[in-house]
Amino acid sequence: MFKKTLLTLSIAFASSSVYATSTVADVADTVAPELTSKVTSKQSVVADNFMVAAANPLAVEAGYQVLKSGGSAADALVAVQSVLGLVEPQSSGLGGGAFLVYYDAKNKRVTTFDGRETAPLAAKPELFQDEDGKPLKFFNAVVGGRSVGTPGTVKLLATMHEKYGRKAWSELFQPAKDLATNGFAVSERLASSIARDKDRLSHYPDTKAYFFTPDGEPLKEGSLLVNKPYAKTLDTLGKEGASVFYSGQIAKDIVKKVTGISDNPGFLALEDFATYKIIERAATCIDYRQYEVCGMGPPSSGALTVGQILGIASHFDLKTMGPNDPQAWQIIGDASRLAFADRGRYIADSDFVPMPEGLLDKEYLKSRAALITKGKALSETAPGNPPWSSKMALADDQSIELPSTTHIVIADKEGNIISMTSTVENGFGSRVMSNGFILNNELTDFSFAAHKNGYPIANRVEPGKRPRSSMSPTIVLKSGKPYMAVGSPGGSRIIGYVAQTLIAHFDWGMSIQEAINMPHLVNRFGTYDLEEGTDAVRFKAPLEKMGFKVNIRDLNSGLHGVVFTDNKLIGGADPRREGIAMGD
Ligand code: GLU
Repeated sequence: MFKKTLLTLSIAFASSSVYATSTVADVADTVAPELTSKVTSKQSVVADNFMVAAANPLAVEAGYQVLKSGGSAADALVAVQSVLGLVEPQSSGLGGGAFLVYYDAKNKRVTTFDGRETAPLAAKPELFQDEDGKPLKFFNAVVGGRSVGTPGTVKLLATMHEKYGRKAWSELFQPAKDLATNGFAVSERLASSIARDKDRLSHYPDTKAYFFTPDGEPLKEGSLLVNKPYAKTLDTLGKEGASVFYSGQIAKDIVKKVTGISDNPGFLALEDFATYKIIERAATCIDYRQYEVCGMGPPSSGALTVGQILGIASHFDLKTMGPNDPQAWQIIGDASRLAFADRGRYIADSDFVPMPEGLLDKEYLKSRAALITKGKALSETAPGNPPWSSKMALADDQSIELPSTTHIVIADKEGNIISMTSTVENGFGSRVMSNGFILNNELTDFSFAAHKNGYPIANRVEPGKRPRSSMSPTIVLKSGKPYMAVGSPGGSRIIGYVAQTLIAHFDWGMSIQEAINMPHLVNRFGTYDLEEGTDAVRFKAPLEKMGFKVNIRDLNSGLHGVVFTDNKLIGGADPRREGIAMGD
């Protein structure tokens, strides 16, 4: 039996540019995101040796058993992800992509692995434009084969297992295989996600047959769902390895499916699978207070944008101000707006577009912080002029990201740590299924427009390129040792959720669970989003008085985090979703 100590939960509240800034980001706010299904109170979980925190108890249990029986974090990851792909198919799975930050205990270093989907080699910058060159409507682009990028998750699992695994690869799929064969009970969140997406999810026959009853009703919470094709896929993957996914039958099936969709075919080809690579990249880190916050660099905007927010905010005494001072939120909100202005202009897949090297430069961030006046919201924000190695004129991004996705934290008893955000992009991705799993719509994370005012947009579609992400899997070090691992889903609001959690813990002394519970206040493009139904709404009047436009809305994070003290692991899971932390 695992040992967990339950702590008492307390909901804590105790430069100018020559190019116009984009207003297109606001369009994202007009399309309904995935909503909170049910808020459940959660308590910190404390363990001595290992821990797993993820979005569904069945997946956590699978990972826990692997760790308990001597498996490594990488081993547990295979079990957790393969179960999540079954029981939380709206968020992540074998047909998606992921970014992973890894602490390698043996070599005492943080590194990152990029398992992001790629655009097909046959994709053109006009992929998401109509015949007149106008951007497609978001969901017309999403639903079908067009939005499907080459999936990276399976190769990422295989790479991690090859490098850091101990147990037999095939054994790690057993929990998911059993659940797929014998059936699992549809969770409240899955049931409500199906019901909310009824029209799109029933558009294609096999997706409809899987998620709906024979008379077309969305599956209800508690229904037993069996997925034999998924069990077969896992069996084949276990026996033949990831090559069956990238150069064998599964690749062939996906290509056939995606290109054969008559109302919205895609461009994936066998060559895209055969040439797909996991890229190990140096972690992107910034010092904040006495911590080093490390995460995923491009093609994710996560670590750079979280890093800019922290770097700008570090010029203000948030600690003394405390979380009850509206001015603290004005500073965080303006720091975030400045960071998002740079993100929209500069950040994309750096293997394809030149990017400024100085987005986290200390002097640069100091100059950005100097734009902020305490007590008065910035009247406008524009991208700055960070140091470049080679300069290029770019226009602001026009991509729309909507939240689904999942975050996993795993720590094994040797001290290896995985912080991975995994996604199929929109809830249920492209709504196309193959071999028992959902295929992503990650390509809609590219900008639909390729140029603006004669300047190219950094995050435009290009063959083989990876769309810019907001996923922010994070590992924090203190005196060179791991201190925290954290991350969240939530579209581009991920960045705000992660930054707020770090500030709440580091500046305001909240426990990891308190920091996760804390009502959200997020500002990306000017409008301050306050979390509906929480204490955060009391900041509406003071923030408006300082000049912000305020919007009260659902803010559906799915934060999971673990703090590492000298001899304990303390885990937290987001009350807004179904996840738990479990350790021993
Ligand atoms: N596709 C988004 C990204 O890569 C994630 C979507 C979400 O969090 O729901 O940033």
